[in-house]
Amino acid sequence: MEDKPLILDGLDGYQFEELIAKIMKRKGYQNIINTPKSKDLGKDIIMEGSKGEMVLVECKHQKFVGRPIIQKLQGAINHEEMQNPKKIVKGMIVTSGIFSQEAIDYNRQIGHEIELIDGRKLKNLCNELKIVILNGKVQIITNKSFENISEKDSENLVFKAYKKIYGNKIYIPKVKADLKYIPACYVRYNLAFDTYTSVGCVDSYQDNGEIIIEGISGKELESDQQDFYFSGRFDTDTIKDKNSQIILPFEFTENDIEEHAINSIIEEHTHTVSYVGNNNVVYSKVCIPKVRDIDIKEFIPIYMPLWKNYVNIGKMNYKQEFYVKGNNQSYLIDELRRCKICESEQDSYEDMSICPECARIVCGDHVKIDYWDEETPICTLHAKPYKLFLQTKYFATNKNLGEYEEWWESINFFEKIYEDRIAFWLSIAGMFVIGMFLLSLIVKISNS
Ligand SMILES: [Zn+2]
Ligand SMILES: [Zn+2]
Repeated sequence: MEDKPLILDGLDGYQFEELIAKIMKRKGYQNIINTPKSKDLGKDIIMEGSKGEMVLVECKHQKFVGRPIIQKLQGAINHEEMQNPKKIVKGMIVTSGIFSQEAIDYNRQIGHEIELIDGRKLKNLCNELKIVILNGKVQIITNKSFENISEKDSENLVFKAYKKIYGNKIYIPKVKADLKYIPACYVRYNLAFDTYTSVGCVDSYQDNGEIIIEGISGKELESDQQDFYFSGRFDTDTIKDKNSQIILPFEFTENDIEEHAINSIIEEHTHTVSYVGNNNVVYSKVCIPKVRDIDIKEFIPIYMPLWKNYVNIGKMNYKQEFYVKGNNQSYLIDELRRCKICESEQDSYEDMSICPECARIVCGDHVKIDYWDEETPICTLHAKPYKLFLQTKYFATNKNLGEYEEWWESINFFEKIYEDRIAFWLSIAGMFVIGMFLLSLIVKISNS
């Protein structure tokens, strides 16, 4: 069942109550009665829960709910309990805003007798129940996105990356790709302004630029992510996905986003100049653009496709999270390049190896190559050590370790010294020192 989006700010108190009644009905409450306004006595809705309990609901379509509302509802609950001594009576307060800390603390003191649902919880509840509500007076709606890729393309990125990891033949990854559209606004602008002091114009500034404001947090994107979107072509797609769950709504109105963009632009172009005053002293002046100095040339609401790949290799799970623009990706998380032992992130997949025993993908510092077959990688947690005189050799399997041990037992002492590289080079160094000593002795004797 799909409803038309409800714009929360546009509802009046009665419509808000009706919305809550509708939500509660979908949640499974029964015998829902909206009480007449004139005699609500601190409760707007009376309903029955799944265990037959009576629930009194107070609806507050306002920004802030304080302690008195809770006390009033508590009074109504007490009153109801006196009327029906056998009934269990509970309370609930639903607001489109937030509860004051004092209200939350008070509710805790009285033993959470009353369920508190704030605007955020209400929104989540609506999402769960597939009731679409939106905030804001001029809601931004668009079906444009940066050029997207298919689910298959997203999954293939895992296979392509995995192929570059050393030792990949043992496992075949299982991948599940997941798409979300994150709202944003692209803003292109010009700005020009002059800064004056008592000596006249000290700075004439002109520039232009582009920024992207994310539509959920209202914040400007990180600069490397903006560079990602601004480099190369700016191709867009039309979102055809019928599954509205994956398209996250804008949390801000157009005016809000424009205001955030202007604040970012002002911050970015504020600069300091020095100038010489009439008395020949050097001063510095901070030049701050004003809102009217900024000319917004383009304002394009656009969705950013955000893919998540859930990867399963052996008993290990890996995640990738990235924005796409056509065939380019900007990774937020790429666990195929993150060592499962030290968590360091490497630049390329070629720097990684996968352990055949545990399926951990590890960095160069946490992998050993089997000394016997000279090719099998093994993570440092599972490498099987074998200590010679001074050096330790590592093996991927007990079989290889056993074969090596047998060979080691079969060779003579000098071969063993040669095999243990540390012992070998130490003996060479030792012999060199003794040689030099003997040489100096010979030189001394022949000189005397
Ligand atoms: Zn590591
Ligand atoms: Zn391992």
